[in-house]
Amino acid sequence: MADETIYFCEGRKYPKLLIDNYQFQIHRREEKKTRWRCVNCNKTKCTARAFTFGKTVSVHDTHNHGFPKIDSNIVLVPQLVKLIRKHNTVQEHQH
Ligand SMILES: [Zn+2]
Repeated sequence: MADETIYFCEGRKYPKLLIDNYQFQIHRREEKKTRWRCVNCNKTKCTARAFTFGKTVSVHDTHNHGFPKIDSNIVLVPQLVKLIRKHNTVQEHQH
C-alpha cells in the first residue's frame, strides 16, 4: 500500500475516477464507501471495480479493453490516496 495520485472528475451528470488511465463511473454511494465501476462495464462487459472510503481506494482492475479516450474538456482533480490493488486474475497463485 503506497500513496499514489488518482484523479476525480466532477462530470456533468456523474463523477468519475481516473486510475492508471482507466476511468470509473460512480455506481453507488454508501454511508462510508463509494462503489465505482469501469466506464466500459456495459460496452465490453468489463468487470473492473473500485471502492473509495476516506483516503483509501481499492481497485480491482482486470480490464478487458484498452484505455478509454479521456474527454479533453473534463477537469481532473488530483488526489493523493492509499491505493490498494487487487488483481483478480485467474492465473494468480494462492499462498
Ligand atoms: Zn475496464
